[in-house]
Amino acid sequence: MTIELFDIVVVTAVSGTLNVILGIFAYIRRRGFLGSRTFIWICVTSCIYIFGHTFELIASSREEIEWTIAFQYLGLPFISPFNLVLAMQFAGFDKWLTRKTMMFLFSIPVTTVILVFTNNWHHLFYKSISVYPVDSYLLTDIQPGPYYVIHGSYTFGCLFAGISILLWYGRKAKSAYRFQLATMILGFSLPMVTSFLYLIGLTPYGIDLVPAVMCVTSAFYLLAILSSNMLVVTPIARDHVFEHIRDGVLVLDTAGLVVDFNRSAARVVTGLTNASIGKPLEAVSKEHRLIEALQKTESAAFDKLERTWECGGKQAHFVVHTSPLFKRNGQMAGQTIVISDVTKERNMMDALEKMAFTDGLTKLYNRTYFMKRSAEWLEENRSVSLIMFDIDHFKRVNDTYGHQAGDEAIRHVAAISRQHVPCHGLIARYGGEEFIIALLDVSLESAFAVAEEIRWSIEQEPFWAGEQAISITASFGVAAQSEQQNIDVLLFQADQALYTAKASGRNMVKKALQTSK
Ligand code: GH3
Ligand code: MG
Ligand code: MG
Repeated sequence: MTIELFDIVVVTAVSGTLNVILGIFAYIRRRGFLGSRTFIWICVTSCIYIFGHTFELIASSREEIEWTIAFQYLGLPFISPFNLVLAMQFAGFDKWLTRKTMMFLFSIPVTTVILVFTNNWHHLFYKSISVYPVDSYLLTDIQPGPYYVIHGSYTFGCLFAGISILLWYGRKAKSAYRFQLATMILGFSLPMVTSFLYLIGLTPYGIDLVPAVMCVTSAFYLLAILSSNMLVVTPIARDHVFEHIRDGVLVLDTAGLVVDFNRSAARVVTGLTNASIGKPLEAVSKEHRLIEALQKTESAAFDKLERTWECGGKQAHFVVHTSPLFKRNGQMAGQTIVISDVTKERNMMDALEKMAFTDGLTKLYNRTYFMKRSAEWLEENRSVSLIMFDIDHFKRVNDTYGHQAGDEAIRHVAAISRQHVPCHGLIARYGGEEFIIALLDVSLESAFAVAEEIRWSIEQEPFWAGEQAISITASFGVAAQSEQQNIDVLLFQADQALYTAKASGRNMVKKALQTSK
């Protein structure tokens, strides 16, 4: 019997020593690990509790026992809230740990300490302490008071919340983090279960065995520190960051097998699920444009490509960025693929580009776009014909009916002309009340015919300024590319023909003289 009690004392003392070592480790590795300060506090408060308990077990008088109990409570009430804080830091919930939350979390433990030290005056924490001898030891029996229940429930509550957070996070934690998680869950639950057994009177001699059990949990923590990366970085928090990056991130090994991916990657690459891990990316979808982008990346040594594919029922634009992954020794380990959704930016660019190339009044293309596009056609050696036209006596419209009516007239002519432009043609507002049409692969005669149609339609369809119908006409110049001409030469010819039409009485179409450059 005596030996068994002695065993408990020895194990408890070892437990305290292990906690000191743990604390030192945590202190040495305190940098780069978000939870290290909390862990150090857990070690310090555990040491106070465990050594206090050891002294309680070997105390030889009631007075000594009372003092050792009070000493234990300088550490004990803080352990479980610190455990909860550690769990939150591991799971990446540290942003919730504000000054206010911390004050709230630690208000109950601080009250516990105050009530323990002033217990003789109010007996709120324990009603009485009775001491009874077992062999050469003096054991204690405590009659709990009302606040003891609050303290006990709070301790269990914090540990329970901590375990729940870790289990919730463990559901989706990558296997590399499982050992650390299991260590922490054990570190939380073993004392909790032991404490529960103590409360319902199932521990030998009715002794609180938590300090002794902490020997096992401390040993596990030490093992986790030495064998894995625990306390080097906060892996789960890092995992949390990885999961919450807005861009999709995919990691492939050197054989092209999927090693890891985050939530955003699963969102943008349909078919990517946990079952894809360990399989080639092609297994996700052979047709996927991402695969095509990657193949292109490899063959053309591009590291960035833009691709469009369907995502969430809509066409979305992505920039796929690949970069090689190296091990510490410089050996290739695989590649990281970052998929950024640029749909918003692309749509905005398209809208801006459209604005930059559109005429505000007529919604036709503007001169800038016309020049750019027709020059491109000529560069591609396409045969281009031009129709240039200008409203006749437009100043009169403005002077007689006002500038606004003039605007309407320009819009009216634009609308009519647009209807006659074939699909392989391009119409733009060239300036003021002057328009231009480029037609692809069309002879001078055909271009002339199109111009004649437009001229006739404008003449036939008056536009309405309020109640009044106003007839307008326009004059046209047509030029077709005879040899390799640049756009300026062709424009000059069309302009000359238009000038001839004006000079010859207006409301007519004139062909340019066919000259080489
Ligand atoms: P012509 O038959 O020789 O072309 O005679 P015209 O009166 O049309 O002469 P011109 O082309 O020189 O005059 C064009 C006028 O169009 C001058 C300018 O005040 C007017 N104008 C240019 N842009 C706009 C516009 O956006 N809105 C309105 N209302 N008028 C414009
Ligand atoms: Mg004019
Ligand atoms: Mg003009």
